[in-house]
Amino acid sequence: MTLKTYREKRNFKTSPEPAGKNAPSAKSAGIYVIQKHRASQLHYDFRLEYGGTLRSWAVPKGPSLDPSVKRLAMQVEDHPVEYARFEGVIPEGEYGGGTVMVWDKGTWTPEGEDIGEALKKGDLKFTLKGKKLHGSWVLVRTKGYGHNADRSWLLIKHRDRYASQQDITTLQPKSAISGRLLADIARENGGDVAKAATGDSQPSPPTKTSRPSTKRRKPQPRPNQPSTRPVTAKNNK
Ligand code: MN
Repeated sequence: MTLKTYREKRNFKTSPEPAGKNAPSAKSAGIYVIQKHRASQLHYDFRLEYGGTLRSWAVPKGPSLDPSVKRLAMQVEDHPVEYARFEGVIPEGEYGGGTVMVWDKGTWTPEGEDIGEALKKGDLKFTLKGKKLHGSWVLVRTKGYGHNADRSWLLIKHRDRYASQQDITTLQPKSAISGRLLADIARENGGDVAKAATGDSQPSPPTKTSRPSTKRRKPQPRPNQPSTRPVTAKNNK
């Protein structure tokens, strides 16, 4: 509920991230946001508004729509509510340096009576109404190790009509507010485009639109066209 840790970690003279207002917003609908963040490691920051700040968890692999998949979610410092709109570049060398995308946004509703009690207990059930994520989910605290012992949670989809085997992070890689990829955001905000692009290039799932090829074609060097694309292992498969 305090932004002390959040502010201590950041230099707002160099980073465009919001410092946040002190006064907690009296009563507003519960904001839900996931920010895809290509920092030293790619991760998805899952945030739920509660008590005037955004409760935050870093989810290395992002959310899964498959109820049998449990995604590690490390609780991190509370963020200001204004952070939900932040999409841009945190300068390299600063805390969390790298490109940030608003990957999903919407509102959340707790499924229980007492949010504070649920958080303390480590078992928060809630419903999401986002652009990408919907339906019932749970964040459940799990046994962690070392200094992260009480910060480890699991993010799990409940079985409902929004559960699916589809890999949502791969199928919908673009910003929920600008339609941009991480590389676009980096390019337009003076960030590290090559680094950001590594967060965009996740393995793509097989698509139904791609025509099955019956012939084995050898890649032919095309005359008159400079080859700009390096041949990757994927092309040779
Ligand atoms: Mn982050």
